[in-house]
Amino acid sequence: MDHDYDLVTIGAGSGGIAASRRAAALGARVAIVERGRVGGTCVIRGCVPKKLMVYAAAYGDALREAAGYGWRIDGTPGFEMARWADAKASETARLETVYRQMLEGSGVALVEGTARIEGAHTVRVGDERVLKARHILVATGSAPVRDSIPGIEHCATSDDLLDLRELPRQAAVIGAGYIAVEFAGALARLGVEVCMYYRDRLPLRGFDDDLRVRAAAALQAGGVELHPGAAPRKIQQAGERLLLVAADGRTRDFGFVLNATGRRPNTAGLGLETLGVVPEPSGAIAVDAQLRSSAPNVHAIGDVTHRKNLTPVAIAEGRALADSLFGPAPREVDLSRVASAVFTLPPIGTVGPSETEALAAGHRLKVYEADFRPMRTAFIGSTERTYMKLLVCAETDRVLGVHMLGTDAPEIVQSLAVALTAGATKAHFDATVAVHPTAAEELVLLRTPARVVEPKAAVVAPPVG
Ligand code: FAD
Repeated sequence: MDHDYDLVTIGAGSGGIAASRRAAALGARVAIVERGRVGGTCVIRGCVPKKLMVYAAAYGDALREAAGYGWRIDGTPGFEMARWADAKASETARLETVYRQMLEGSGVALVEGTARIEGAHTVRVGDERVLKARHILVATGSAPVRDSIPGIEHCATSDDLLDLRELPRQAAVIGAGYIAVEFAGALARLGVEVCMYYRDRLPLRGFDDDLRVRAAAALQAGGVELHPGAAPRKIQQAGERLLLVAADGRTRDFGFVLNATGRRPNTAGLGLETLGVVPEPSGAIAVDAQLRSSAPNVHAIGDVTHRKNLTPVAIAEGRALADSLFGPAPREVDLSRVASAVFTLPPIGTVGPSETEALAAGHRLKVYEADFRPMRTAFIGSTERTYMKLLVCAETDRVLGVHMLGTDAPEIVQSLAVALTAGATKAHFDATVAVHPTAAEELVLLRTPARVVEPKAAVVAPPVG
């Protein structure tokens, strides 16, 4: 069969761009179809603008702290959302241009429009254009869920929040995943009265419990009003405002409500049924270790597979898939030790299993901890604390996990992830000479375990305050 392209990628986000560029570099003829802005969620309405908002929030802290370091700041500093929004729009436009140039420079044909699969080798774009492909890659990402709670469709999503030109005076955040806590913390630092409503006892389900307890405390210290165990039963529109209805029928109204209750893979309307591919109940496309769907020559990567919804995972999968299809030998991505961050203030960095997960996997654990007031903020009398935890397998001495909440935690943990990937033991940490004065040096100075935990005697974290 004569194909126009060796690979047609649907979705020019982190994963699709990475796969397409790598495939083109390996000599494949590649087209990428995009219905929106090039760059996808991460660049346009995810990681990048989110972190720019967190940076904006952190400047407020820096301004407040500066006086303690001897600075005289005259006048009252204030945050103007519209100025941030303009600067953010220029930066995302600049990045989009960079991505377009990168695709062009790699020889990848960009086809703008909405793609629909019409067969194992056929992708239609809009009404007119039909692309014949040897392989199809679905990299369509995900979008906020809009049916998690009756009435949730009236609420703003993270996309809407990042496009605001004026901050609300008061906001409710529904959900307690990393997107919810990041925005709740940032909004509160920017002067919004924030209430967070969520189902669990603690935010950040899936993270280590000791981090979760401290993240809750840090959110409260940052001014966020927490409502654990209190996901609203429904949301009702009341004129310009939204009414959150609790399980016991009590109501509270807000001018702005952020729906941070999760994301759903973008598979609706994609034509998967023409291939006999049935998405999972979550909407995800199931893939095997080689990122193959159940249909031959049709592959999927990134958020649309709904496994680890992170940009570096989508990129790593995209490159691995291109190498497998067009390189000398197939290869797989190991998702078992993916480091990640939560950009709260202070932030979280984490790699490896939580204590609960490591115990469930049958490890006898030596748990090393440090919990202290860091030098920078202790100097100005702040009560902010830094927490670090090493999980070490008592049998093999291997460091299984590092969990940290404190300034620079994501940067510190990113570097340590390399050591863990290389199989570092606690003896390697002990043999490492510290860099002083830093917070990270505590990680190589931990000598006595705080506790040794048997696999069946999991220590349960204390409840929040
Ligand atoms: P996407 O980047 O979503 O790209 C999919 C693309 O496909 C989109 O451009 C879409 O328009 C296009 N598309 C969909 N359907 C079609 C169609 N039928 N035809 C043509 N085009 C189509 N991850 C991190 O690692 N760190 C973070 O700090 C972080 N913060 C985040 C903050 C927020 C608010 C959000 C929402 C996400 C965040 N993420 C973060 C997650 C990260 O953005 C995603 O995991 C990543 O973008 C997934 O990449 P992808 O290539 O799978 O999909």
